[in-house]
Amino acid sequence: MRRTKPYDMPARGVVTLDPESLKSLCEISPYPLLLVDDQGSILKANPRAGDLFGYPEDDLVGQPVELLIPETLRPAHQLQRDSYVSQTRAGQRVMRDGLDVEARKRDGTLIPVEVTLVPVDTTGGRAIVTSVIDLRPRKTLEAQLREERDLSDAIIRSLPGVFYLLDDQGRFQRWNRNLERVTERSAEELFQAPAWSLFDPRDSHRIQKAIETVFRDGSFEIDAEFKTPSGSSIPFHFTGLRVELAGRQYLTGAGVDISTRKALEADLRHRANHDALTGLVNRHHFENILRHELTRSERYGTPVALITLDIDHFKAINDRFGHLIGDEVLRRFAASLKDRIRATDTLARWGGEEFMILLPQTDAHNGMLMAEAVRALIAETPMPGPGRITLSAAVTIHRDGESRHELLRRLDEALYRAKREGRNRVVTC
Ligand code: GH3
Ligand code: MG
Ligand code: MG
Repeated sequence: MRRTKPYDMPARGVVTLDPESLKSLCEISPYPLLLVDDQGSILKANPRAGDLFGYPEDDLVGQPVELLIPETLRPAHQLQRDSYVSQTRAGQRVMRDGLDVEARKRDGTLIPVEVTLVPVDTTGGRAIVTSVIDLRPRKTLEAQLREERDLSDAIIRSLPGVFYLLDDQGRFQRWNRNLERVTERSAEELFQAPAWSLFDPRDSHRIQKAIETVFRDGSFEIDAEFKTPSGSSIPFHFTGLRVELAGRQYLTGAGVDISTRKALEADLRHRANHDALTGLVNRHHFENILRHELTRSERYGTPVALITLDIDHFKAINDRFGHLIGDEVLRRFAASLKDRIRATDTLARWGGEEFMILLPQTDAHNGMLMAEAVRALIAETPMPGPGRITLSAAVTIHRDGESRHELLRRLDEALYRAKREGRNRVVTC
């Protein structure tokens, strides 16, 4: 018998070997293979092919190959097969790539397969080696991948905030529509801009550092403000996680708008520290400011003056004109004083119709001048109800080593003195 070399293919893709060797080769192939002759008759089906189509392999021998084709496609297949046979006979290389088609199993079910044909000349005549790959596992995997992808796309689209995937240079690779909308950037702009360029310049260095942190430590959480081309600053809370995709490191994460939370926090902070009627600093907050200022004054040896003010005969205003007018007088009183003091001074509502003014870096003389100016101002300020009101005041500077408590008691006693001595006056202590 002539020795044949099945893999030694001449230029036209044709080898010559005896039919039995070819059948043996088919037999041991791990893939489903059919040998078909020029007339479309099956010469050999290997065990894998038998399994795939649901036939005992020997049952296929002698059958037309159209048996394995969906019924409706059989006439067309016959024509294609004839044309294939005549083309390969003429020596043309055709169909070296697989063709995705449907095949028919014995039980009539149709399955997707990839078919590849190779013409082989044997000593017994022409045989078409037909490899049939079952595409179901691949199709299932593709469908699963498509579903996964559709699901992740849907999740990203439905996120209430922004989503992003950054490469290790901090450049956007993927993102959701929200990111374009919030940052007022087009997809093109996002693609080109490093992530930190979307932020307030004060934040961009921090963001750049945070991105480096993710690639080093694996995750981050950070609050920062987007700065938009139209000039808005929008605070966001961001999370980031390092992920590896196809051997490269990326940062993926999301951000939520925290404007409402920030505004609420600011509002709560303001309410906790300010008086609702006059908008002035309240007693609780004033005591903190006072503590802070006294510490500073002791450290730097600068004087601090403190004035306490109390409206004279305020009860009578309420009694004569009603509480609402009383409230309006308190508001007007507070506004007039607020206009008069320096930005560095603190005016507080201590309680009822009693107020405090803290004057940092102010000595006794200047403290007295300020208290007197305030008294004179109020005496001249038109008020609803009585038209004019007066106040009594006590002024002092903080003494070295004196506690807050002692300082306030001295002032309180002095204020009583001002009242006793006839009101509408300033006393020092
Ligand atoms: P004096 O000259 O001795 O200070 O007399 P006074 O009437 O001003 O002092 P008094 O402490 O007897 O009365 C203070 C009044 O201030 C009593 C209280 O009802 C009133 N008051 C306290 N807080 C408010 C407020 O928020 N609105 C109004 N309308 N009145 C207030
Ligand atoms: Mg009073
Ligand atoms: Mg009072």
